Amino acid sequence: MNKKDLKLSDIGEFGFIDSIKENCHFSRSRPIMGIGDDCAVIGPYNGKVLLITTDLLVEDIHFVLARIKPVDLGQKVMAVNLSDIAAMGGIPLHGFISLAAPKTIDLGVLHDVYDGIRDMCRKYHVNILGGDTSSSPDKLIINAAIVGEAPEGEVLYRNGARPGDKIYVTGTVGDSAGGLKIINGHASAPDSTASVLVKSHHNPVPFLEAGRIIAGSRLAGSMIDLSDGLCSDLGHICQESGVGARLFQSSIPISKEVKVLAEINRLDPYDLALYGGEDYRLLMTVPAGKCSEFQSLFVTGRPCQIYEVGEITSSKGLRMIMEDGKEVAIRAKGYDHFY
Ligand code: ADP
Ligand code: MG
Repeated sequence: MNKKDLKLSDIGEFGFIDSIKENCHFSRSRPIMGIGDDCAVIGPYNGKVLLITTDLLVEDIHFVLARIKPVDLGQKVMAVNLSDIAAMGGIPLHGFISLAAPKTIDLGVLHDVYDGIRDMCRKYHVNILGGDTSSSPDKLIINAAIVGEAPEGEVLYRNGARPGDKIYVTGTVGDSAGGLKIINGHASAPDSTASVLVKSHHNPVPFLEAGRIIAGSRLAGSMIDLSDGLCSDLGHICQESGVGARLFQSSIPISKEVKVLAEINRLDPYDLALYGGEDYRLLMTVPAGKCSEFQSLFVTGRPCQIYEVGEITSSKGLRMIMEDGKEVAIRAKGYDHFY
């Protein structure tokens, strides 16, 4: 097919990013990392590098305004960006917020969004230094960009996974996707379960302290945050590192709330855990010889729990050892905006 006959849906979000990432550098100042990781990395400046990331939330794509409190929306736009800083091992410093809103939107909604943005800035010590404001035909669109820093040599990329490395995640997976099913009315659960899952969808927590400790330890080889789903994001690590991975089904950390939701609604909890997005946990790979030292960073449960979920393989593709011992190929796909 001729390239000009293609539609965005023919190549998907990641195909599109691949299609534009060549030929993007025209400055005398060369980046350490451009398109292709959780943050761009520039510098070094006095032994430190700067990390830059940006992420967009679009009404009726990422959120339904009637189903999320504006203050949560503000917190979430910061959390998803802070999570990308965490995924590199960085410390956030400054943010920019851009808004496009229909002119009939209640001002109170926008001020509540900013209350949420401020809550996160206060908590994680981030300044808001600017942004942009525009009208939009009928949907609310919020973008944040965050600048952070890290000591040179203590940044983790997606391309450092090697065969034999163990794969870890910093928390349970599938909670946010479970929460989304409840928010959209596609599943139900007792209040105590529903509130935990909905909260994990509306109020994700960026793993900044863990990310910094992991990168600072210099024990891990690669890291990413789980925004599109465990399989998709592990797939990014594998693609950038030229490796494959094997997951152990019995080791995938699934919360009791996701188990209850799955049971009541006849859902497959592994489907939520492997392909559900927006958990914002960190996933990292650690060479086998460094794993006991790595695990000792987390023995007190601080800064978080850590779960070993699989290992990196030299053969490409994702596979999973099922609870009955059989090994099956699994899809590396997760959420894609255009497929
Ligand atoms: P994340 O989920 O961690 O935010 P994405 O999958 O959104 O990462 O993006 C992957 C990479 O592609 C990042 O380096 C990001 O900056 C880059 N990217 C995404 N969209 C665009 C775009 N429209 N133009 C240039 N770079 C982009
Ligand atoms: Mg990311």
